[in-house]
Amino acid sequence: MRGAVLYAPHDVRFEERPDPTIIEPTDALIRVTSTCVCGSDLWPYRGIEPVTKPTPMGHEYVGIVEEVGREVRTIKPGQFVVGSFFASDNTCPICQAGYQSRCLHKQPIGALGSQAQWLRVPLADGTLVATSDIPSDDLIPSLLSASDVLGTGWFGAVAADVEPGKTVVVIGDGAVGLLAVLASQQLGAERIIAMSRHPQRQQLAREFGATDIITERGDEGVEKIKELTDGIGAHSVIEAVGTQESMMQAIRSTRPGGYVGYVGVSHDVKLDGQELFFAEIHLHGGPAPVRRFLPDLIDRIWKRQIQPGKVFDLELPLEQVAEGYRAMDERRAIKTLLRP
Ligand SMILES: [Zn+2]
Repeated sequence: MRGAVLYAPHDVRFEERPDPTIIEPTDALIRVTSTCVCGSDLWPYRGIEPVTKPTPMGHEYVGIVEEVGREVRTIKPGQFVVGSFFASDNTCPICQAGYQSRCLHKQPIGALGSQAQWLRVPLADGTLVATSDIPSDDLIPSLLSASDVLGTGWFGAVAADVEPGKTVVVIGDGAVGLLAVLASQQLGAERIIAMSRHPQRQQLAREFGATDIITERGDEGVEKIKELTDGIGAHSVIEAVGTQESMMQAIRSTRPGGYVGYVGVSHDVKLDGQELFFAEIHLHGGPAPVRRFLPDLIDRIWKRQIQPGKVFDLELPLEQVAEGYRAMDERRAIKTLLRP
């Protein structure tokens, strides 16, 4: 088969890779019908995470089940499935508590590389969620977004305790931040303040439910949020970037007793214990347990209540994966959908 392989910063190639096969009896083999480039793929692409050897890329996927191992019970060949970026058994105590991204038997899909024509999915019964039927084409981008960015934005909102009537701040205008806006709107937030200085992303944030846009960053951004929240900060703040500046902005924008849900992959963030102590806020985040939310998210997409697939503003055949990365790296595209 063919798929994307990262050789060095800014050097992603579409090339021949070994055909995956069933290895464990709990595996499924799927024909990938859509995949995409994630903001987190840009960390190694930009060389911020080291690339030491040619690395298959991608961890977001939807597809058709082709074959299953002999111990797979619920997933069947022919089904259309959505899975998350960690394979999980969905039965261990951590999964049962809703933290499938930290399953005792978790396996990262990124190591298998979903930007490819075929994908072996471990722990198929626990990982994959089948739709009731083969979806119509217009639903595919939204279903694909559920595989990571929608589920991650949703977790950010849940971790930030978004509830009806609450004021929410979303830091980060990438796909996850934009979908955290959508999640907050769905969860009943009264006011949603999106931080963005990019006109096209501001527009999409408003479509997804943002009521206010702030263009300032850092301490100036915090000041603006205080101005909009009676001087005390927001109840819920979602951090969807992962830098020192964005994390401190999130903490300082939260009122005492409030919540920060942080879902931007953290890079060199250091927190000061004394500042945290006196901030008196809840901090919760990490790799999103997307699997927890998948059945609900698929249902909302299937009923056309939400259109998270709008975050895809570039669609390319998989063979043009390199251009897909370039467009996101240069912020010409919010998110690239790839069709194998
Ligand atoms: Zn588990």
